[in-house]
Amino acid sequence: MAPLIQGIDRVLQAMFENLTVATVAAWTAYLDKIQREISAFAGRLGDPSTYPFAVPPTHRLHWYYLFGFLAIAFALYLRRKPKGEAFTIKRFLRFWLPGSVYRHRSSLLDLKFYLFNGVFVEIAFITVLIGSFFGFAGVFETAFRALWPGPDPNLTASPSAEFAYMAAIILAADLGFFIGHYLSHKVPLLWEFHKVHHSAPVLNPLSNYRFHPVDRILLGIFIGFSIALIKGGFGFAYPDGVAEMTAVNVGVLLAFNLSANLRHSHIWLSYGWHLNHILSSPAQHQIHHGSEPRHFDKNFGLMFSLWDWIAGTLYVPRAVEQVRFGLSGREHEEYDSLWRLYSLPFVKAKALLWGRAARAPIARSEGPRRLKGQEG
Ligand SMILES: [Zn+2]
Ligand SMILES: [Zn+2]
Repeated sequence: MAPLIQGIDRVLQAMFENLTVATVAAWTAYLDKIQREISAFAGRLGDPSTYPFAVPPTHRLHWYYLFGFLAIAFALYLRRKPKGEAFTIKRFLRFWLPGSVYRHRSSLLDLKFYLFNGVFVEIAFITVLIGSFFGFAGVFETAFRALWPGPDPNLTASPSAEFAYMAAIILAADLGFFIGHYLSHKVPLLWEFHKVHHSAPVLNPLSNYRFHPVDRILLGIFIGFSIALIKGGFGFAYPDGVAEMTAVNVGVLLAFNLSANLRHSHIWLSYGWHLNHILSSPAQHQIHHGSEPRHFDKNFGLMFSLWDWIAGTLYVPRAVEQVRFGLSGREHEEYDSLWRLYSLPFVKAKALLWGRAARAPIARSEGPRRLKGQEG
């Protein structure tokens, strides 16, 4: 019994020391990152190759991927246009960028939100992710060392171990996203903040950035935590460290980004019955944004839909579906200004907590969707 208690004590001590160091390090890293991001952004403003949004080549709004969005839309248009209909640029533009979507108030709000929120919240998201990644990785590695005798200190990572490390990081990041996203739907308080993302009645690539800061930062912690577990494990197994095959990481991101802009759009792209079980297609994310009961709480995955399959939340469409985007009961109409996107979640969270205290037994048995007083 005594060694066990000693072990637990060592783990707790290691965790405490690491978390204190990690908090300071994360805050310093945050301030540093903001400074660097602002100067990088200023630099990109003078570089037309980063236009139209002055973002780096790994960003989903870089012209590479906007061009990918155009190319895929064009191919789909050619396949889907009625037989005998002559091709004209005007017709294609109406298919690709219809006024009903791009001139909608919601799209204008997405643009305003992106410009206003983008810089600081995105930096906060990335920093929390990186900060919690390094912070938790230190905690895990120390905890593993406190629990088990270390491996052979001369063990160095082979290329296959490096590859396994990168693959595990990618899978863990995606799983962390899935878990965070799942909870943001299932926990009523978190759902109030995540609703902001679902409040868009039309989808365009900028809707991908309509996230309440609270929602985004919580997600960053989930992703950071899951990849930290992998880093801690590999750090424990290979004391000399494992080199990161960044090329693998970037390659996967670039491949994903090619079609990623279709996820938030009206253009349907499904990968087919089988592949949809493994990879999450843009059509599946559109279903995730559906406001009808059959689409509720389905397809939480980002890159992989495998997690949804395992968790029983997978929805694979059998044919093209007309998805009505937004929140049920037209609740999305309340989220009609920049101010409301920020403030409504707090107002509703407060009402939820207070309301709950008053009618606890009924409210507890109902899911977050029901709490909004919708049909079905
Ligand atoms: Zn969601
Ligand atoms: Zn979305």
